[in-house]
Amino acid sequence: MAKLSNERKVTYYIGMGLIVLGFILFISVFFQVASFTNDPFSPTSTEPSFSSAIFGFVLMIIGGIVSSIGARGAAGSGVILDPDKAREDLKPFNEAKGQMLNDVIGNIDAVNNITKPTEGKEIIKVKCRSCGALNDEDAKFCKSCGESL
Ligand SMILES: [Zn+2]
Repeated sequence: MAKLSNERKVTYYIGMGLIVLGFILFISVFFQVASFTNDPFSPTSTEPSFSSAIFGFVLMIIGGIVSSIGARGAAGSGVILDPDKAREDLKPFNEAKGQMLNDVIGNIDAVNNITKPTEGKEIIKVKCRSCGALNDEDAKFCKSCGESL
């Protein structure tokens, strides 16, 4: 991280604070659950409130978003979208995707060349000097008269 403006530093710490607060809230409910299940007949134990666990969890998420805004700036976090900046951020990803697509297309071409080896290739025939029959380029003897080519 390079120089952070004070505003962003404060945002970052507020986010971190929310994460800690949310985490404590979230964890405390688990302790409540633990004590509740360990001693279900205890008159002092109340049913754990899962709503406060959810609230703590939401706080952690919000804290994570807020602190990432502070750390990377609003545009980099992807929360407040500056369209130009967002596109810039996605550029390496799109380029990588394009390269991957090219590789896939290249592989398809290679497969096509294997399955259809003669397609698009010129078939060269050799004319027999004795009888004039057309033979394959690599044939040693004429298929018609048996003369050496
Ligand atoms: Zn021949």
